[in-house]
Amino acid sequence: MVRNHVDLLDKFDGYRGEHQALIDAGLNDPFGVVMERVLGPTRAVIRGRETILVGTYNYMGMTFDPDVIAAGEAALRDFGAGSTGSRVLNGTFAGHIGVEDALRDFYGMAHAMVFSTGYQANLGIVSTLTGKGDYIVLDADSHASIYDGCKLGNAEVVRFRHNNADDLDKRLGRLPAGAGKLVILEGVYSMLGDVAPLPDLVAAARRHGATVMVDEAHAMGFFGEHGRGVYEEQGVADDVDFVVGTFSKSVGTVGGFCVSNHPKFEILRLVCNPYRFTASLPPAVVACAEASIRKLMTAREKRERLWANSRALHAGLVAAGFRMATEHCESAIIAVLMPDQESTAAMWSRLLDLGIYCNMSRPPATPAGVYLLRCSLSAEHSIGEVETIVDRFVTARAM
Ligand code: PMP
Repeated sequence: MVRNHVDLLDKFDGYRGEHQALIDAGLNDPFGVVMERVLGPTRAVIRGRETILVGTYNYMGMTFDPDVIAAGEAALRDFGAGSTGSRVLNGTFAGHIGVEDALRDFYGMAHAMVFSTGYQANLGIVSTLTGKGDYIVLDADSHASIYDGCKLGNAEVVRFRHNNADDLDKRLGRLPAGAGKLVILEGVYSMLGDVAPLPDLVAAARRHGATVMVDEAHAMGFFGEHGRGVYEEQGVADDVDFVVGTFSKSVGTVGGFCVSNHPKFEILRLVCNPYRFTASLPPAVVACAEASIRKLMTAREKRERLWANSRALHAGLVAAGFRMATEHCESAIIAVLMPDQESTAAMWSRLLDLGIYCNMSRPPATPAGVYLLRCSLSAEHSIGEVETIVDRFVTARAM
């Protein structure tokens, strides 16, 4: 007999029970959706039914762009299926240089470094910029990848109240004057879809001599004159040291990156573990990303459509009496506040039965006590689809 055995998975019994209760209640599993076929950027077949997708991050609808697909197909044919190696050994192909050139052009910055995902970009940049004796000061609502980057490194971590520049200022003021400090912000916060007041936050960081990093994952392509993000729109480009982003949203494929004008940036490639100890992105992926980023530089019409769709959905849901996470439409994430987990799961399930896929979001992804039905728009939604989404929300509420 095995003695003193501890089942390491016991600690998840609470989660297992909660999840099982959803299934036992006869609801669709919000975390087990399968896209059986994908019909385009805004439609897929789920459980045999054609469904409108309003829970993807396909903001600019680039996943089926013909030029993007052609670039990916050519790279797959010419360079093979994968790199089988790290960027610092055999894994840098012409396409990796190409996509980094495209990022430098898109952001107008001197340096660009591509990671295998946005999650890894945050792990790598946060844990490598800071070390023992340094301080990371981050917004309490930061994405999990930023928190995990903090855990991977050796710096002291201090949180400030979400989007609160006074609290940031106060916490920075308590740190030793001579210590290295990294302030981490996001342009758009992905759960509530709210936008950061970057000028106030960045000014506080500067007052205390801190380095500033902004994650613009949910703003690339449609905030700011060149689509660089909230930091561009709000005019603080000169005070941001590092911008982190992803290819998994507006760019429409997968990958992550950091861009910067820091003169010593390139050394990061040789010291950043989530960059150097993992295989580089496959050639087809970087080719898709490069083609997409270059098209996003001039995608004015798509930007307009995305904003029109986002405003229309927000206005439609407000008019229908839903409680929204933001009073006005601030981004392409339009979140409906729900009272508790049970009603959120039940409504989410009914929406799926009605042919609408949105995201069910709950803690720990959301702030404590916040339950959401989260919609994210695409430039490729038609206004008719947006109207259908509102209509189905109303129907699902009445069921
Ligand atoms: N940062 C933020 C703010 C995000 O929301 C996400 C993903 N949702 C990421 C980083 C990670 O991006 P990726 O999907 O490329 O790993």
